[in-house]
Amino acid sequence: MLFSEIVGLEDTKQTLINSVRNNHVAHAQLFLGRDGSANLAMALAYATYLNCEDKGETDSCGKCGSCSKMGKLVHPDLHFLFPVAGKIEEKGSARAELMTNWRGFVQEMPYAGVQDWSTFAGVDNKQMSIAVDEVREMIKDLSLKAFEGTYKVVIMWQPQMMAAAPANAMLKILEEPSPKTVFILVVNDAEKIMTTIISRTQLINIRSFAADEIEKYLVERLEVLPKNAAQIAHLADGNLQAAFTILNEVKNDNLPIFQLWMRHCFSRNYTEMVLMADEFHELKREGQKALLYFALTVLRDALVMNYGHPGMVKLPEESLAFVKNFAKVVNDKNIEPIMNLLNEAYYHIERNANDKLVFVDTSIQIARVIK
Ligand SMILES: [Zn+2]
Repeated sequence: MLFSEIVGLEDTKQTLINSVRNNHVAHAQLFLGRDGSANLAMALAYATYLNCEDKGETDSCGKCGSCSKMGKLVHPDLHFLFPVAGKIEEKGSARAELMTNWRGFVQEMPYAGVQDWSTFAGVDNKQMSIAVDEVREMIKDLSLKAFEGTYKVVIMWQPQMMAAAPANAMLKILEEPSPKTVFILVVNDAEKIMTTIISRTQLINIRSFAADEIEKYLVERLEVLPKNAAQIAHLADGNLQAAFTILNEVKNDNLPIFQLWMRHCFSRNYTEMVLMADEFHELKREGQKALLYFALTVLRDALVMNYGHPGMVKLPEESLAFVKNFAKVVNDKNIEPIMNLLNEAYYHIERNANDKLVFVDTSIQIARVIK
């Protein structure tokens, strides 16, 4: 990861670069950022910069041997600690497989969270943690000299997922730092970490992405249409991973369920609304968000249609037919309240509210607005 691959956050990048250039690299640093922020990406870019053989003023060179190994996450002086499910078998290929999996995850989803990692690792619903054995293993590795780079870098992802024993082992090593070793703790919620650990680290705040930064990322790197990018960025609320999820899940698959849902709202069929909440529940959080996003897109398109600009609506055939009909029942008076309700539902789903309640409540309110 290079600094240039991270959109925005120029101040943070410069602070980190200056610390290296002025020889003020703190041995333990805590990169604190909300879900979907660049805290892990920034840790990777920083680790790359620390060992780059041809550092520039604003970034690593991206070409030297060190940068190339850092890019593949195989640099011998780069160590990771991260939560895993269960104990890792020392015999056989379990550890190598785990590392391959982990590298794949970090490269594909550097803005993702623990839930995404457990899905990626295929251990959904299993308890994950950083085990004391892992911390000891790492301490053993660190007692060796840096192999190739100037610095040995340990990136500890989600250290709040450590029980007391590994946390104490960790504390010890933070108290007695070895020279040219940098610990980067990548944290989303500082309140869950032992204060004794926090007090031994330098805090680097990684602010969430601004809407225009997410928009820029979507438009420039993923070729999303600007109007869609703006809407996705708004819903993603600073969480870049959430923006990717919305983008991936905005498929036409949502049309039938949305049609049915609206039909029940229009006919004020409360029994069906309640039954449908189960179906909604089955979609899980990401699917629910995608459905709500789809609903918002349809409403916006219906609005555009009503204003007499059907050419601006770029939907597939089958959705278009639905939107045309839909545009007849929504009008300037009810469309805005409905969109507000959907936005609110999205907000609550994202914050883990009871999904069935949100669905039923939103349905009833939409039915009222339509009346
Ligand atoms: Zn380099």
